Amino acid sequence: MQRIIIGNGIAGSHAAAVLRRRDPDCQITIVSAGALLFYNRYDLPDVFRGRGDWVDYLVYPPSYYDEQNIKLRRKTLVKDVDPNKRTICLSHREALSYDQLLVATGGTGYIPERLLEYSDSMISFNNYRLAMMVRKALPDGGVVIMLGGDVLGLDLARTLIETGHSVVLVAGDRTFWPHEIDADDRPRYLEALRRMGLEVVDGRRIDRVESSHGKRPARQVIFEDGEVLKGDVVMPFYGLTPSVDFMSSAGIDIERGILVNPQLKTTGDDIWAAGDVCQIWSPQQNAYHFYYGWKNVKMMGEVAARNMTGDEVPFSATVDEQIQLQEDGTIYSPFWEYD
Ligand SMILES: Cc1cc2nc3c(=O)[nH]c(=O)nc-3n(C[C@H](O)[C@H](O)[C@H](O)COP(=O)(O)OP(=O)(O)OC[C@H]3O[C@@H](n4cnc5c(N)ncnc54)[C@H](O)[C@@H]3O)c2cc1C
Repeated sequence: MQRIIIGNGIAGSHAAAVLRRRDPDCQITIVSAGALLFYNRYDLPDVFRGRGDWVDYLVYPPSYYDEQNIKLRRKTLVKDVDPNKRTICLSHREALSYDQLLVATGGTGYIPERLLEYSDSMISFNNYRLAMMVRKALPDGGVVIMLGGDVLGLDLARTLIETGHSVVLVAGDRTFWPHEIDADDRPRYLEALRRMGLEVVDGRRIDRVESSHGKRPARQVIFEDGEVLKGDVVMPFYGLTPSVDFMSSAGIDIERGILVNPQLKTTGDDIWAAGDVCQIWSPQQNAYHFYYGWKNVKMMGEVAARNMTGDEVPFSATVDEQIQLQEDGTIYSPFWEYD
C-alpha cells in the first residue's frame, strides 16, 4: 500500500505518524514544497527572542523519518493530481503513484487584491525564511506596521511588544480573523489591543505601500486621505487562503477549501484532506466549516489517518473558537495555544 501525503505541517506530519503506528508495513511518502523538516510555525515569533536556528523549531529530530520509515521529499511542489490514474504530478514533471492520498497543504497568507501590487514592499510571516527576513529588517526598538491584524499577526504583535518593538495596527474587517466580532463589541476589542501596547489605526483606507528609497524608516503606508504612516517593516495579516490551486483539475469538490465529509474524505476516490486546506461538513451547522488551531489541525491529521486505515470516525473540534476579553482587559485567542 503506497500512501502519499502532500504537506509537511502539523496535519500531514501527525497523519504520517498515526498511519505508521496503525500500519507498520505500508509505504508512506510526504511531499512538501518547503525546504525544512516539520517545524513548529507557532513558535516563529521566538526569532525575536534570539531563537535563530531552524533546528530549534523542529518537532522531531532529523533521524525521525528514517526511524519511522517515512520518506520525506522536500522542496517538491505538487502541480497536479490525477485521480483517474491515481498519480500526483510534481513541478519537474515526475509522477508518483498512490493507493491513498492525503492532501494537507494548509494555507498561505491572503492579501487583498488592491494591495497585491505592493507585495514587494511587505514581508509576510509564513515560514522560517520569512521570519528571519523580518528579524533582519527590523532594528532594535523598530516599528512594524501590521496590516489587517488576524490572530496570527496579533500573536506576533504580543512578542514584538514584549521584545521592545512598536506595532502600529491598521485595523479593518480582517482584524481578529478567524474570529468574528460583533460591530457593537468591536470598539472594546480594539481598546483591548491598545491596552496590550499596540497603536491602532482604524477606519482608514490604504492607498499604497512604498519604500522610503534608502531613508529610515524603510517603509511608508499612504492612506487615501494623504496621511503617511512610517515604519521599518510592513506586514500583511489578513488571514489564510487554502492552498488548493494544484487540485483545480482533479475533479474533486472545492469551494474555498477542499470539501470533505466529517470523516475527512473528499469527493475523490481514496483522497482525504486535513488541516487548514479543508472545509468540513458540519451536520450541526448544516454547512461546511473551517476549523483552525494547532489542536484541531492535529486532530484532523489523526482522524484522516484512522479513516484511511479502516475506521469511520468523524472529526469533532477540540478547540473552543471564542475569542475572550479577559478580566485584565487584554484579549486571548484559543488559537494561540498548542501542545
Ligand atoms: C507563522 C505562522 C504562525 C501561525 N500561528 C498560528 C497560531 O498561533 N494559531 C493558529 O491557529 N494558527 C496559526 N497559524 C496557522 C497554522 O499554520 C495552521 O493552523 C496550522 O499550522 C496548519 O497546519 P496544516 O498542516 O494544515 O498546514 P501547514 O502547516 O500550512 O502546512 C502545509 C504544508 O503543505 C505544503 N504545501 C503547500 N502546497 C503544496 C504543494 N502544492 N506541493 C507540495 N507541498 C505543498 C507546505 O510546504 C507545508 O509543508 C500560523 C501560521 C503561520 C504561518
